[in-house]
Amino acid sequence: MSSTEEAMNQWFGNFPSKTFADDTCFLIGAWANVSVIKTEEGLVVFDLSNRLFHRRIFNKIRKFSDKQIRFIIYSHGHFDHSFGYASIIKEVNDKGWEMPQIIAHENILNRFEKYRELDKYHNWINNQQFSSIGNIPKEGVSAHDTLNPTIIIHGNNNYEFKLGNYSFELYHDKGETDDSLWMFLPEKEVLFPGELVSNPTFPNVGNPFKVQRYPKQWAIAMEKMLEKDAKFLAPGHGPLIEGKKNVQEALSIRAEVMHFVYDEVVKRLNEGKWFEQIYHEMLEIYPEKFKKHKYLNPAYGCYRFAIHAVYRLFHGWYTTGNPTDLFPAKSNEIAEEFLAINDEKKYLFHAEKLYKQGKLQLALHILDVIIIGSSIKNKSTFLEACSLKSRILMQKEAEESSFIAKNIIRNGIHELQAKIDELKN
Ligand SMILES: [Zn+2]
Repeated sequence: MSSTEEAMNQWFGNFPSKTFADDTCFLIGAWANVSVIKTEEGLVVFDLSNRLFHRRIFNKIRKFSDKQIRFIIYSHGHFDHSFGYASIIKEVNDKGWEMPQIIAHENILNRFEKYRELDKYHNWINNQQFSSIGNIPKEGVSAHDTLNPTIIIHGNNNYEFKLGNYSFELYHDKGETDDSLWMFLPEKEVLFPGELVSNPTFPNVGNPFKVQRYPKQWAIAMEKMLEKDAKFLAPGHGPLIEGKKNVQEALSIRAEVMHFVYDEVVKRLNEGKWFEQIYHEMLEIYPEKFKKHKYLNPAYGCYRFAIHAVYRLFHGWYTTGNPTDLFPAKSNEIAEEFLAINDEKKYLFHAEKLYKQGKLQLALHILDVIIIGSSIKNKSTFLEACSLKSRILMQKEAEESSFIAKNIIRNGIHELQAKIDELKN
């Protein structure tokens, strides 16, 4: 087993599966979840997970039922939801079956095209976002081959079909992506929200690596789902949510927090405030009921990222209101000028003082004057600065809840460690 596979097993476990609501199989933790609905006339599969797991998903589906797969639905085109089709298609070809219908929103085609254009870039950026899992093999995220939809849902249209004893209602709402579909099965009272619900994490909105997401529409999607009054919610990631009360709570708290972030940022934009002021004010007013809520754990997305998401919807890249920042000099050249005013030891001494006072973020800014300056004037001071920064980052990483933020900090620690090793040798 490769180290990546081992790391993935550690992260994603052995895909426990759960059968619920008569004839629905939920494969949990196959990076993204996969749901399979058995009807008298064959299977409907909602999401396919990651390309790296296609065999294991297929084996689990076949343990559940040997019926022909008639429909595959993509909740959206992220690589962990729509790429794990290889074994399914092999079986179709081997048995001479008719190809299943693939249903997706029209925007998924632009997404796949974008992934092809930016293939190497996406591999690089995903390896940063998911770095603690290990290096994701290129084939895991590459969109060079995709299984494209045969039934395309346009604009805000809904789509309904029947198979055997069940009806399947599909709806489009923007949220984590612009190509989202969610599904409701009225006879079973089950909602399949795709990544519009990851249980129990805070919505992944404002991801520091990725393109714009849609907080307001996310809230609206939750409200539309609430109208279905479902008994089960089979989320895109994380465990099944069972019981009307729990389903209502999981959806309504997400709607509430998305409205809250959106409305409070918009209010401050209308007050003529720049990003820094908005961000720090928003941190102060985050209500306790959201902070502690069991369905809003900031384990992946988090409130701090969501503030960026709303701001970026309405604002360009000039975010500080300070003309110095319009066409800035290189950061290493700026650091050099600070070092010309005062030597490295003074900055290190000051950073140590801030560190002792628990002002970790300020200590990092001061240490960067030494670390990112283009020349090393005093090797031992430079090494001390690197190791203090590394210690501070480790403390921040330990205290950090968001998987994405943790990885960003950890990537910084690794880079510093490489720099320290290089200088010591
Ligand atoms: Zn996604």
